[in-house]
Amino acid sequence: MPGGTMLVGYDVEWMGEGDITPGFLERIRHIHNELAIPATLFIVGRTLERCVPAFREIASDPLFDIQQHTYSHQLLKTVYIETGESVRVVRGVGLDRIREEVRRTTELLREHLGRECTGLTGPWCYYRGLRDRPDILETLWEEGIRFTRTDGRNASDWHPVELDLQPYWYDHLGFPEILETTVHGWHDSTIRDILGWESLDAWVESVKPSVDRAATEGKIYSHLQHDWSSIREDPELTATKAVLQYAREQTLSFLSYHDYHKEQLAARTTPVTVE
Ligand SMILES: [Zn+2]
Repeated sequence: MPGGTMLVGYDVEWMGEGDITPGFLERIRHIHNELAIPATLFIVGRTLERCVPAFREIASDPLFDIQQHTYSHQLLKTVYIETGESVRVVRGVGLDRIREEVRRTTELLREHLGRECTGLTGPWCYYRGLRDRPDILETLWEEGIRFTRTDGRNASDWHPVELDLQPYWYDHLGFPEILETTVHGWHDSTIRDILGWESLDAWVESVKPSVDRAATEGKIYSHLQHDWSSIREDPELTATKAVLQYAREQTLSFLSYHDYHKEQLAARTTPVTVE
Protein backbone atom coordinates (compact mmCIF):
# COMPACT_ATOMS: atom_id res chain seq x y z
CA MET A 1 0.00 0.00 0.00
CA PRO A 2 1.35 3.44 -0.88
CA GLY A 3 2.20 5.66 2.05
CA GLY A 4 -0.16 8.40 3.13
CA THR A 5 0.14 12.04 2.19
CA MET A 6 -0.47 15.15 4.25
CA LEU A 7 -1.68 18.35 2.65
CA VAL A 8 -0.91 21.29 4.92
CA GLY A 9 -3.04 24.40 4.41
CA TYR A 10 -3.07 27.60 6.45
CA ASP A 11 -6.01 29.98 6.15
CA VAL A 12 -4.39 33.39 6.55
CA GLU A 13 -7.28 35.62 7.41
CA TRP A 14 -6.69 37.87 10.43
CA MET A 15 -8.61 41.15 10.01
CA GLY A 16 -8.80 42.25 13.65
CA GLU A 17 -6.62 44.29 15.96
CA GLY A 18 -2.86 43.83 16.07
CA ASP A 19 -0.11 42.55 13.84
CA ILE A 20 -0.90 38.85 13.97
CA THR A 21 -0.25 37.88 10.37
CA PRO A 22 3.35 39.07 9.69
CA GLY A 23 4.63 37.30 12.82
CA PHE A 24 2.82 34.12 11.83
CA LEU A 25 4.19 34.23 8.27
CA GLU A 26 7.76 34.75 9.42
CA ARG A 27 7.63 31.89 11.90
CA ILE A 28 5.75 29.44 9.68
CA ARG A 29 8.20 30.05 6.86
CA HIS A 30 11.07 29.27 9.20
CA ILE A 31 9.50 26.00 10.42
CA HIS A 32 8.61 24.73 6.96
CA ASN A 33 12.12 25.46 5.72
CA GLU A 34 13.67 23.77 8.71
CA LEU A 35 11.63 20.63 7.98
CA ALA A 36 11.59 21.04 4.16
CA ILE A 37 7.81 20.58 4.09
CA PRO A 38 5.64 22.40 1.52
CA ALA A 39 2.42 24.18 2.47
CA THR A 40 -0.36 26.20 0.94
CA LEU A 41 -1.49 29.60 2.19
CA PHE A 42 -5.17 30.33 1.53
CA ILE A 43 -5.22 34.11 1.84
CA VAL A 44 -8.08 36.51 2.57
CA GLY A 45 -7.79 39.52 0.23
CA ARG A 46 -8.31 42.08 2.99
CA THR A 47 -5.58 40.44 5.06
CA LEU A 48 -3.22 40.63 2.11
CA GLU A 49 -3.93 44.35 1.69
CA ARG A 50 -2.96 44.95 5.33
CA CYS A 51 0.52 43.45 5.07
CA VAL A 52 1.73 43.20 1.50
CA PRO A 53 5.51 43.18 2.32
CA ALA A 54 5.19 40.15 4.63
CA PHE A 55 3.22 38.24 2.00
CA ARG A 56 5.71 39.22 -0.71
CA GLU A 57 8.51 37.74 1.31
CA ILE A 58 6.85 34.36 1.86
CA ALA A 59 5.49 34.22 -1.71
CA SER A 60 9.09 34.25 -2.96
CA ASP A 61 9.71 30.98 -1.13
CA PRO A 62 9.23 27.91 -3.37
CA LEU A 63 7.93 25.84 -0.43
CA PHE A 64 4.82 27.99 -0.28
CA ASP A 65 1.88 27.70 -2.62
CA ILE A 66 -0.37 30.78 -2.65
CA GLN A 67 -4.16 30.47 -3.03
CA GLN A 68 -7.22 32.28 -1.73
CA HIS A 69 -9.88 32.33 0.97
CA THR A 70 -12.17 35.06 -0.58
CA TYR A 71 -11.75 38.81 -0.18
CA SER A 72 -13.59 39.33 3.10
CA HIS A 73 -14.22 35.82 4.41
CA GLN A 74 -17.74 35.41 3.07
CA LEU A 75 -19.38 31.99 3.28
CA LEU A 76 -20.18 30.34 -0.06
CA LYS A 77 -22.90 28.24 1.59
CA THR A 78 -24.96 28.59 4.74
CA VAL A 79 -23.80 26.43 7.64
CA TYR A 80 -26.28 25.02 10.16
CA ILE A 81 -24.03 23.91 12.99
CA GLU A 82 -25.45 21.42 15.50
CA THR A 83 -22.91 20.68 18.21
CA GLY A 84 -25.29 18.63 20.33
CA GLU A 85 -25.60 21.54 22.74
CA SER A 86 -26.50 24.41 20.45
CA VAL A 87 -27.47 25.41 16.96
CA ARG A 88 -25.67 28.16 15.12
CA VAL A 89 -26.56 29.39 11.66
CA VAL A 90 -24.16 31.46 9.57
CA ARG A 91 -25.48 32.49 6.20
CA GLY A 92 -23.79 32.18 2.84
CA VAL A 93 -23.78 34.99 0.29
CA GLY A 94 -25.24 35.10 -3.24
CA LEU A 95 -23.51 34.18 -6.48
CA ASP A 96 -22.76 37.76 -7.51
CA ARG A 97 -21.03 38.39 -4.22
CA ILE A 98 -19.07 35.14 -4.49
CA ARG A 99 -17.85 36.16 -7.94
CA GLU A 100 -16.82 39.60 -6.71
CA GLU A 101 -15.01 38.18 -3.65
CA VAL A 102 -13.07 35.60 -5.67
CA ARG A 103 -12.23 37.89 -8.59
CA ARG A 104 -10.97 40.70 -6.38
CA THR A 105 -8.70 38.35 -4.43
CA THR A 106 -7.35 36.74 -7.60
CA GLU A 107 -6.50 40.23 -8.86
CA LEU A 108 -4.79 41.14 -5.58
CA LEU A 109 -2.69 37.97 -5.61
CA ARG A 110 -1.66 38.72 -9.19
CA GLU A 111 -0.93 42.39 -8.57
CA HIS A 112 0.96 42.10 -5.28
CA LEU A 113 2.47 38.63 -5.38
CA GLY A 114 2.60 37.84 -9.10
CA ARG A 115 0.74 34.59 -8.53
CA GLU A 116 -2.13 33.08 -10.55
CA CYS A 117 -4.79 31.75 -8.23
CA THR A 118 -6.40 28.39 -9.02
CA GLY A 119 -7.48 27.19 -5.58
CA LEU A 120 -9.82 28.31 -2.83
CA THR A 121 -10.79 27.35 0.70
CA GLY A 122 -14.45 28.12 1.36
CA PRO A 123 -14.80 30.15 4.58
CA TRP A 124 -16.06 27.90 7.42
CA CYS A 125 -16.24 24.84 5.08
CA TYR A 126 -19.43 22.89 4.46
CA TYR A 127 -20.93 19.42 4.64
CA ARG A 128 -20.57 17.66 1.27
CA GLY A 129 -18.56 20.59 -0.09
CA LEU A 130 -20.19 21.99 -3.23
CA ARG A 131 -21.82 18.72 -4.34
CA ASP A 132 -25.24 20.34 -4.02
CA ARG A 133 -24.23 23.64 -5.62
CA PRO A 134 -23.34 23.36 -9.33
CA ASP A 135 -24.18 27.07 -9.63
CA ILE A 136 -21.34 27.97 -7.25
CA LEU A 137 -18.98 25.59 -9.03
CA GLU A 138 -19.81 27.26 -12.34
CA THR A 139 -19.04 30.69 -10.87
CA LEU A 140 -15.73 29.44 -9.42
CA TRP A 141 -14.81 27.76 -12.71
CA GLU A 142 -15.45 30.99 -14.60
CA GLU A 143 -13.19 32.78 -12.14
CA GLY A 144 -10.34 30.34 -12.78
CA ILE A 145 -10.69 28.12 -9.71
CA ARG A 146 -9.58 24.54 -10.39
CA PHE A 147 -9.47 23.05 -6.91
CA THR A 148 -11.57 23.70 -3.84
CA ARG A 149 -11.23 22.96 -0.16
CA THR A 150 -14.82 23.26 0.98
CA ASP A 151 -15.84 19.82 2.27
CA GLY A 152 -14.80 20.14 5.90
CA ARG A 153 -17.85 19.55 8.12
CA ASN A 154 -19.79 16.43 9.03
CA ALA A 155 -23.54 15.84 8.63
CA SER A 156 -24.23 18.15 11.60
CA ASP A 157 -22.04 20.83 9.99
CA TRP A 158 -19.71 20.05 12.88
CA HIS A 159 -16.46 18.09 13.39
CA PRO A 160 -14.57 15.87 13.10
CA VAL A 161 -14.53 14.79 9.47
CA GLU A 162 -13.13 11.27 9.20
CA LEU A 163 -10.62 10.13 6.59
CA ASP A 164 -13.27 7.94 4.94
CA LEU A 165 -13.93 11.13 3.03
CA GLN A 166 -11.18 11.50 0.46
CA PRO A 167 -10.63 14.14 -2.24
CA TYR A 168 -13.02 13.84 -5.19
CA TRP A 169 -13.74 15.36 -8.59
CA TYR A 170 -16.89 17.31 -9.36
CA ASP A 171 -17.25 15.39 -12.61
CA HIS A 172 -20.90 14.39 -12.24
CA LEU A 173 -21.76 18.07 -12.00
CA GLY A 174 -19.95 18.85 -15.24
CA PHE A 175 -16.68 20.08 -13.75
CA PRO A 176 -14.32 17.14 -14.27
CA GLU A 177 -11.22 19.24 -13.70
CA ILE A 178 -12.27 20.73 -10.37
CA LEU A 179 -10.91 18.70 -7.48
CA GLU A 180 -12.40 18.96 -3.99
CA THR A 181 -9.50 18.47 -1.61
CA THR A 182 -11.55 18.26 1.65
CA VAL A 183 -10.54 19.10 5.23
CA HIS A 184 -10.18 16.37 7.86
CA GLY A 185 -10.41 16.15 11.60
CA TRP A 186 -11.11 19.39 13.46
CA HIS A 187 -10.34 22.92 12.38
CA ASP A 188 -7.53 23.90 14.77
CA SER A 189 -9.41 26.95 16.10
CA THR A 190 -12.49 24.91 17.03
CA ILE A 191 -10.75 22.05 18.83
CA ARG A 192 -8.30 24.35 20.59
CA ASP A 193 -11.19 26.44 21.89
CA ILE A 194 -12.71 23.27 23.34
CA LEU A 195 -9.46 21.88 24.75
CA GLY A 196 -8.29 25.23 26.15
CA TRP A 197 -5.93 27.47 24.20
CA GLU A 198 -3.02 26.78 26.54
CA SER A 199 -3.35 23.00 26.17
CA LEU A 200 -0.90 22.70 23.30
CA ASP A 201 -0.02 19.06 23.97
CA ALA A 202 -3.69 18.09 23.97
CA TRP A 203 -4.12 19.71 20.56
CA VAL A 204 -1.09 17.88 19.14
CA GLU A 205 -2.55 14.61 20.50
CA SER A 206 -5.91 15.40 18.89
CA VAL A 207 -4.30 15.56 15.45
CA LYS A 208 -2.43 12.26 15.73
CA PRO A 209 -5.34 9.87 14.96
CA SER A 210 -5.81 11.47 11.52
CA VAL A 211 -2.06 11.25 10.82
CA ASP A 212 -1.98 7.63 11.98
CA ARG A 213 -4.91 6.69 9.80
CA ALA A 214 -3.40 8.34 6.73
CA ALA A 215 -0.16 6.45 7.37
CA THR A 216 -1.67 3.01 7.95
CA GLU A 217 -4.32 3.22 5.21
CA GLY A 218 -2.29 5.13 2.61
CA LYS A 219 -4.78 7.98 2.59
CA ILE A 220 -4.76 11.73 2.12
CA TYR A 221 -4.87 13.76 5.32
CA SER A 222 -5.93 17.34 4.55
CA HIS A 223 -5.00 19.56 7.48
CA LEU A 224 -6.34 23.04 8.31
CA GLN A 225 -4.90 25.70 10.58
CA HIS A 226 -5.31 29.48 10.72
CA ASP A 227 -2.78 32.27 11.18
CA TRP A 228 -4.44 33.73 14.30
CA SER A 229 -5.21 30.44 16.05
CA SER A 230 -1.83 28.83 15.30
CA ILE A 231 0.01 31.67 16.99
CA ARG A 232 -2.39 32.11 19.93
CA GLU A 233 -0.67 30.98 23.16
CA ASP A 234 2.09 29.59 20.95
CA PRO A 235 4.07 32.45 19.36
CA GLU A 236 6.91 30.14 18.38
CA LEU A 237 4.48 27.65 16.76
CA THR A 238 5.99 24.79 18.74
CA ALA A 239 2.76 22.78 18.54
CA THR A 240 2.55 23.23 14.76
CA LYS A 241 6.14 22.03 14.48
CA ALA A 242 5.36 19.03 16.70
CA VAL A 243 2.44 18.04 14.44
CA LEU A 244 4.58 18.27 11.30
CA GLN A 245 7.41 16.30 12.90
CA TYR A 246 5.00 13.62 14.07
CA ALA A 247 3.56 13.29 10.56
CA ARG A 248 7.04 12.92 9.15
CA GLU A 249 7.90 10.26 11.76
CA GLN A 250 4.84 8.30 10.61
CA THR A 251 6.39 8.48 7.11
CA LEU A 252 3.70 10.64 5.56
CA SER A 253 4.79 12.53 2.47
CA PHE A 254 3.80 16.14 1.89
CA LEU A 255 2.41 18.07 -1.06
CA SER A 256 1.00 21.54 -1.58
CA TYR A 257 -2.65 21.58 -2.68
CA HIS A 258 -1.61 22.97 -6.06
CA ASP A 259 0.82 20.12 -6.67
CA TYR A 260 -1.64 17.53 -5.42
CA HIS A 261 -4.26 18.79 -7.89
CA LYS A 262 -1.71 18.79 -10.70
CA GLU A 263 -0.59 15.27 -9.87
CA GLN A 264 -4.15 13.96 -9.68
CA LEU A 265 -5.13 15.66 -12.93
CA ALA A 266 -2.20 14.04 -14.72
CA ALA A 267 -3.15 10.65 -13.28
CA ARG A 268 -6.78 10.79 -14.46
CA THR A 269 -7.41 8.03 -16.94
CA THR A 270 -11.11 7.20 -16.79
CA PRO A 271 -13.31 9.07 -19.26
CA VAL A 272 -15.73 11.31 -17.44
CA THR A 273 -19.46 10.80 -17.83
CA VAL A 274 -21.53 13.89 -17.22
CA GLU A 275 -25.19 13.35 -16.51
ZN1 LIG B 1 -11.47 31.07 7.38
